[in-house]
Amino acid sequence: MSASRNVLKFGGTSMADAQAMLRSGQICLDHHAHLVVVSATSGTTNQLLEIASLGEQGHRDRTHELVGQIKKKHSLIAQDLNFGKADLNSLDDLDELLSELTTLAEGILLMREASSRARDRLAAIGESLSSLLFRQALSLVASNHEVRLLDVRSVMRTDDNFGQARPITDEIKRLMNKHLPTLGEDEVIYVTQGFIGETEDGFTTTLGRGGSDYSAALLAEGIQASVLEIWTDVTGIATTDPRLCPKARSIPEITFKEAAELAVFGAKVLHPTTLAPAMRARIPVFVGSSYEPKAGGTWIRWQTQDAPLVRAMALRKNQGLITLSTPKMLNQYGFLYEIFKIFNQNQVSVDAITTSEISVAMTVDASVLTNKNLTRDLSELCEVKIEQNLTLISMIGNNINHTAGLALSIFGALGNINVRMICQGASIHNFCFLVEGNEGEEALRRLHKTFLEN
Ligand code: ADP
Ligand code: ASP
Ligand code: MG
Repeated sequence: MSASRNVLKFGGTSMADAQAMLRSGQICLDHHAHLVVVSATSGTTNQLLEIASLGEQGHRDRTHELVGQIKKKHSLIAQDLNFGKADLNSLDDLDELLSELTTLAEGILLMREASSRARDRLAAIGESLSSLLFRQALSLVASNHEVRLLDVRSVMRTDDNFGQARPITDEIKRLMNKHLPTLGEDEVIYVTQGFIGETEDGFTTTLGRGGSDYSAALLAEGIQASVLEIWTDVTGIATTDPRLCPKARSIPEITFKEAAELAVFGAKVLHPTTLAPAMRARIPVFVGSSYEPKAGGTWIRWQTQDAPLVRAMALRKNQGLITLSTPKMLNQYGFLYEIFKIFNQNQVSVDAITTSEISVAMTVDASVLTNKNLTRDLSELCEVKIEQNLTLISMIGNNINHTAGLALSIFGALGNINVRMICQGASIHNFCFLVEGNEGEEALRRLHKTFLEN
């Protein structure tokens, strides 16, 4: 029988300070972690990216102030963890990272330029710092184990799409076998970074904001892990974002397909692409709170005991609705092909879509609408109408597209809130529709009350 291999991931709030790190370290021990993936300390990635923007604009004082804040925050954690007392080399590593931060910030200020490649290099310092400090926290807790730091860039091979790099999964598997051949077979625990990767040419990349979940899943796939545990600041996946709806409650089990829909359609608790590698490798995923490790959480599995009609709901703000109309669509083929060719050329992804005889409507992230080429190309083909500031609401469950009367109950629950577009049918797990941006949260609360509070 092959050894079990447990991959645990801790987000920024689980790395917030020395105490949070020690608590997370204890979870690693209790849950027999073999590979631990960590995000930057809470708020640090935002600060690093702000340094890039401020530096680009030449705001010297503000840039220095932020660099100072990051240094102070991490030095304080180091101090609280007795960092470097047992291993002087690690102090050099910390100094080296902090001076790299200064050098990069000065470079950006000098050049008044921060390319996406430079931003990734800068952002990566967040994860490098937290992993270095967390190794120390874990060593204090897990004194019977050897805790090693793995620079994830030696295994997380990606393309060079800086800021949103795509992983090269075959290479990741090969490199993990090469660098971690005995993982799970001895008392060694590896600590590594989420979010960051490296191109074949040795340039640092990032997988997109919130990407540490995805990193952990890719690494879990790479070593064919037995389990992937995502430790965050909530006790699992809830029926909706607890910040929006205080009555949201944690879901004990959910299927991969439902959880994937939920993540893609706005539940920030998991990065949208996290579940794909876990599904490919059939690795069960657990989501729990590092603040209350004994409070349970959510298991994501292929099959669950129950299959409720509505299990959870999510919203995505800042959506645009593009409606394309032309009489040419009537009884014609090839029109949708032409439209999607344009979306493809402009590298724009569409979320929800509905069609009628002479028009097709689709939702996109509003940021896409600044792409003038897209609207110009579409206008050459047909009439284009664009609406902005909408919110996409998704109800996630089972057989949700085949249930007679559901739409009626939804409209009943929404009352006077106007629905802009409904998209139902493509997925048995998702029923979604658009409402005006300023009504999104209220709509979610009303639906939650009707369908998920009883
Ligand atoms: P981490 O830093 O650990 O990755 P995130 O902030 O990225 O944590 O994700 C956790 C947050 O996701 C929660 O604090 C919660 O507000 C939000 N969230 C959104 N939707 C849900 C949901 N359905 N269930 C639980 N949390 C959710
Ligand atoms: N630290 C990164 C971010 O803030 C990645 C992550 O937290 O998952 O986006
Ligand atoms: Mg996250």
